[in-house]
Amino acid sequence: MKCFYHPDQDAVGMCARCGKALCSACAEDVGGALLCSQCIALLREEEAVRQEQEFVEVEARRRLDVRHVKKIILWSWIITVVLGTILVVALWKEREEVLSVADKFFMAILWIYIIWSWYWGFIFVANSRWGRKIFGREISGCLMIILWLFVAPCAGFFGGGIYKYLQYRKIVKEGE
Ligand SMILES: [Zn+2]
Ligand SMILES: [Zn+2]
Repeated sequence: MKCFYHPDQDAVGMCARCGKALCSACAEDVGGALLCSQCIALLREEEAVRQEQEFVEVEARRRLDVRHVKKIILWSWIITVVLGTILVVALWKEREEVLSVADKFFMAILWIYIIWSWYWGFIFVANSRWGRKIFGREISGCLMIILWLFVAPCAGFFGGGIYKYLQYRKIVKEGE
C-alpha cells in the first residue's frame, strides 16, 4: 500500500478519520490514532466552532439569568410599595387617641420592612441548600404552610432577606 499523498512512499497506516493511506511523513499520531494533516485541520476547526457555540450558549443563559433576577428585584419593590401604601393608608385612618403619629410612623416602617423581607425570605429559603432539600421532597401541606408562613418570613426578617437582595443585586451588577 502506498501513501495517498506520496505514491512513491510505502504507507505505514491509514488515517483514522478519512481512511487514506499515509506514509511516515504524513501520518500524525494524535492521542494514539493516526490522522492525516487535512483531518487534523478539520478537527481543529470543528473544535473551534464547538467552543464558540458553547460560549454563545453560556452567554445567552447568563443574560437570561440576569433578566430573571432583575424581574425578581422589580417585583419585590412593586409588592412592597403596593402593600405598604395600603398599610400606611389604613394606619393613618386610625384616630390619634388610639395611635400617636410616632407610633404610626414606627409601625409603618416596621411593617414595610416585614413585607419586603417576607418576599426575600421566600427566595432565601427556596434557594438555600436546606430549603431546596426540603422543598424538593414531598412534604405534607401543613409543613409546607408552616415553612412558608413562618420560617421564610423569619429567615427574611433576620437578615436573610437583605442577604438575598444584596446577592441578587450583585448578580445584576456583574451581569451588565
Ligand atoms: Zn484523514
Ligand atoms: Zn505521505
